[in-house]
Amino acid sequence: MPLPLAEFRHGDLRILGTSLAGEESFAIVPELNIAFDFGRAPRELIGIDHVFLTHGHMDHAAGVAYYFSQRMFVDLPPGNLYAPGALIEPIQHLLKTWADIDGQEPPARLHGAQPGQDIPIRRDLIVRPFKVVHPCRRPGGRVIESLGYAAIEIRRKLKDEFHDRTGPQLVELKKNGVEITRRVEIPLVAYCGDTAVGDFLELDYVRNARVLLLECTFVEADHVDRARAGCHIHIRDLRRLLPRLANERILLTHLSRRTLLHQARETLRRELGDADKRVSFLMDARRRRRGPRTRPNDAKRDSP
Ligand SMILES: [Zn+2]
Repeated sequence: MPLPLAEFRHGDLRILGTSLAGEESFAIVPELNIAFDFGRAPRELIGIDHVFLTHGHMDHAAGVAYYFSQRMFVDLPPGNLYAPGALIEPIQHLLKTWADIDGQEPPARLHGAQPGQDIPIRRDLIVRPFKVVHPCRRPGGRVIESLGYAAIEIRRKLKDEFHDRTGPQLVELKKNGVEITRRVEIPLVAYCGDTAVGDFLELDYVRNARVLLLECTFVEADHVDRARAGCHIHIRDLRRLLPRLANERILLTHLSRRTLLHQARETLRRELGDADKRVSFLMDARRRRRGPRTRPNDAKRDSP
């Protein structure tokens, strides 16, 4: 049985996701046509054109090949995967190896992402990667750093010095090549993937994102050491973190399989009391049953 899909709404932002450590983690923002991590590539993620992978651990990345294959199966254009640069080559190998098994290699657009290098999605939307604290050690000892991602809306606003001008005056200024607007960034959603507490929480576009998805893997009092060893956040860290964060809502993800959701909810209430009502668990949002993996009408090609 797949895990249920949570549907969270905050104003005009809608986030669909599932997150349980070691099983599956992803978050989809359908209206922005973006998703963070693949999980096992649920049906709801297949139609999303831009997917941002935080790191290579299986619970976040298992669905990579399936995502591209399903898009080919329903005649969608190749999807875009963005991932830490060092993962691009192994992912190319993965897709080739699957072609050896499956007989078909689906087209895929793979992009290496760098911290601070903006990725344009639409004229009014960029995604900015940032470094988090969750090093992944490859066999052989090489360490690959993980990334988080922030979706940022870009608006143009009239510069203060032109506020008293009339419409025709502004048109005239523009004609003369005067830049009358300034660029304004509105961080919408920041997704941290797996991480320990780190400097990235000081970044403006992370701490001011309207919705922050922050992992909180460990809850039990005697699991602080596990959190530190695995580069994860413990619920005890939140009290110290929250005053620094200006997010309207904070969704906790990646809860350990050892902890039941209602226990985690009680611990959260004990830890924070009424001090911070912005915080809840993603999996506490309204649950939806997942749709069938592919509707018969979606399939434009015969099943292999
Ligand atoms: Zn991980």
